[in-house]
Amino acid sequence: MTVPEQASSVGAERRERLKALREKALKRKVLARHLSDGFNGRWSGRQWVQAGLFATLGMMVAAVVPGFSQSTASVRAHEPRQSLALALPPLTLARLKGETGDSWQLVRVNRGQTLGSVFKDMDIPKSTMSQILEQPGAREALMRMKPGTELGFDIPVNGSLRTFRYDQDEGHRVELSIAGDKVTDKKVIARQSQVRTVVLSGKVGKSLFRSARKVGLTPANINTLTDDIFKYDIDFNEDVGTDDRFSVVVEQTWREGELISTGPILAATFTSDGKLHTGFRFDRGGKPEYFTGDGRPLKKSFIRMPIPYARLTSGFGTRRHPVLGSIRMHAGVDYAAGTGTPIMAAGDARVQFVGWKGGYGRAVILDHGRGYTTLYGHMSNFSKIKPGQRVPQGTVIGYVGSSGMATGPHLHYEFRVNGVHRNPLSITMPPPEPLSGMALAQFRQQTAVALGRIRQVENIIYADAGPAPAAAPAVAAAAVAKTVAVAKTKGKKKKTSRG
Ligand SMILES: [Zn+2]
Repeated sequence: MTVPEQASSVGAERRERLKALREKALKRKVLARHLSDGFNGRWSGRQWVQAGLFATLGMMVAAVVPGFSQSTASVRAHEPRQSLALALPPLTLARLKGETGDSWQLVRVNRGQTLGSVFKDMDIPKSTMSQILEQPGAREALMRMKPGTELGFDIPVNGSLRTFRYDQDEGHRVELSIAGDKVTDKKVIARQSQVRTVVLSGKVGKSLFRSARKVGLTPANINTLTDDIFKYDIDFNEDVGTDDRFSVVVEQTWREGELISTGPILAATFTSDGKLHTGFRFDRGGKPEYFTGDGRPLKKSFIRMPIPYARLTSGFGTRRHPVLGSIRMHAGVDYAAGTGTPIMAAGDARVQFVGWKGGYGRAVILDHGRGYTTLYGHMSNFSKIKPGQRVPQGTVIGYVGSSGMATGPHLHYEFRVNGVHRNPLSITMPPPEPLSGMALAQFRQQTAVALGRIRQVENIIYADAGPAPAAAPAVAAAAVAKTVAVAKTKGKKKKTSRG
């Protein structure tokens, strides 16, 4: 057998399986033989039923992942999960006709269109519109319609408007019965929406962004994937190949066959060069964070540079002071950047000081706990922060400037451990605290389910590429910060400068 033949037969086999899965999802009836034949013994038909998996087009595979959700896991577990086929048809005119005779017309509001112009197009008298707008809540819903809003008109042949239907809000649809131009009855119908936890998977191809968008990830999801979850493991500019693949677990909200919203990434895998990388979202102390499979935070406790893409102009140590001209200790590092460049909190912190501080000019001091503090000097301005306030890592705390004793716009950045100045460029940063105890147990339970579902989906769509690699065995969090030696000042006491 030649290689292309083999590839195409495997491809055909895969297509066959996907087809069978789709039939199953749509019709809830499929020949068991269909699945078990040529299935390499990987998954039986029964397992598929249990997994509640269904497939749609090409690379996009969605799976109901029961019991995996972030903070509300315990509450949700008792709710019956809806599992609908993914590709429901949108609410069509034909369907509306089927429901209430054959006189419904559905209008989708265009950009710039007003209720008045829609009614005029439909040849409905102004007096009827006024009556409708008198209904409690109607004005609010109908006078600020977004483009794409759907309005329903039930107009019998040779008759006038009999029923008018509109969406009061996200969760409620209103049907008004109309006789002459009077509203005679009002029905409020709950709009059903379903939350489905799904696996979305794809290959990187030419562009990760395009592929990820194609399978249904939002731009925010993609940012999370590249900037929060895999930032430290994968260089997305260099390391990624077209055959690398990603899979994520997200919650999708569907209503009437339409995807309304996609939630944050709950779990993600990235397989690059046969190596599996994983990341999981988990609420710790009411705050969602991403963790490795063994419960270590993916986020580092400190970012190295508090401003993006800045040029280091002065390192840590003794130097001739640029303003004073004398030899002094430079107790921080300087980054040249334009006035107004945002400065970010290097780690999660409590604001200790905001204000003018001698030669530092406008300065902010952040307390990161465990004896770590950072100082940011020469700012042109502060963002809206107050002492005592908690700021997460990456929060903009102020802007680059040249206030205080500075020759030009730059950020003077100091890193202190137990009050002692350390070089932020060379110090071993403390590892963030891993999950432990109950939280770790709960986390393990969730991640096992999510990872299992991802692997099921990958085994199907990438069957010809070999099974998904197993997750690396959990490694105990071994990284321990090197004991930070207290810096001793040699000889004469040095003066520190604020250059
Ligand atoms: Zn400096």
